[in-house]
Amino acid sequence: MLMYRPKKKVLQDLHINNGGGLISSWVDSMRACSPTHLKSLMKQSSWLTEHPSALDMFEDILHVSEGKQIVMFMDYDGTLSPIVDDPDRAFMSKKMRRTVRKLANCFPTAIVSGRCREKVYNFVKLTELYYAGSHGMDIKGPEQGSKYKEGSESVLCQPATEFLPMIDEVYKKLVEKTKFTPGANVENNKFCVSVHFRRVDEHNWSDLAHQVRAVMKDYPKLRLTQGRKVLEIRPIIKWDKGKALEFLLESLGYANCTDVFPLYIGDDRTDEDAFKILRERRQGLGILVSKFPKETNASYSLQEPAEVIDFLQRLVEWKQLRSGA
Ligand SMILES: [Mg+2]
Repeated sequence: MLMYRPKKKVLQDLHINNGGGLISSWVDSMRACSPTHLKSLMKQSSWLTEHPSALDMFEDILHVSEGKQIVMFMDYDGTLSPIVDDPDRAFMSKKMRRTVRKLANCFPTAIVSGRCREKVYNFVKLTELYYAGSHGMDIKGPEQGSKYKEGSESVLCQPATEFLPMIDEVYKKLVEKTKFTPGANVENNKFCVSVHFRRVDEHNWSDLAHQVRAVMKDYPKLRLTQGRKVLEIRPIIKWDKGKALEFLLESLGYANCTDVFPLYIGDDRTDEDAFKILRERRQGLGILVSKFPKETNASYSLQEPAEVIDFLQRLVEWKQLRSGA
């Protein structure tokens, strides 16, 4: 049982055909997502009781994964790299890259991101990993150097290809529509478009949300979802990070296995789809990266990317000790 229940349903699709009242609810919801507001709402200690630190509970996590194949899934922004104002400069540290490389040598490892796959790869630059970009709508396996590579075909899955021209058109319209809003940043993630609010003054959030809605009303086949200071436009197909997780487990040959233990680490609302799948499958566990209490389907928490490094490093050391023994 969670100690905290927000007034609004947090994970909601933002149906664009509804009235303007919805815009204020997106903006309110985006504000509510910012740590200072949440901090006052909840006591950190009770939340940590529900979602203890994955570092503190490391031995317990190993215990429940005993005898099972650990498979690693990680979000990129806010998980492997810090959240920065300019999304094009969300670099990961060298230490993080070294750690993720060692991790991929120990376990099948996938990065699951809202960004387009090529962009995530350019940040991470590790050929040993699986990459699921655009919220899992564009999945590719390791090119080389991975002992967990399955088959010879490296592009695994692109369930939304038919939407590419439409997404591109919407991207161009959004760039045009939002060009007079200071700080607004529209990012083309190939299978989805992100409108970033990070550098927009909070007073202009409502205007920006109205601009996005004005463009979106002509596209009933696209839907809007809300992330961390971002509105995202995606095709209406049943595909999300949870589906991507299931697809990857299947591709790795663990479709109906009981001896697999997926570990998913992420910081965003869109990661909740994956946390939820793990709960439903009663398999593995989710770790939310957050310094502040949030409603989540994850079981454990880590405060920031620096703690993610420590956790991954401990997993690597544990695996190496076992392999050596
Ligand atoms: Mg993230």
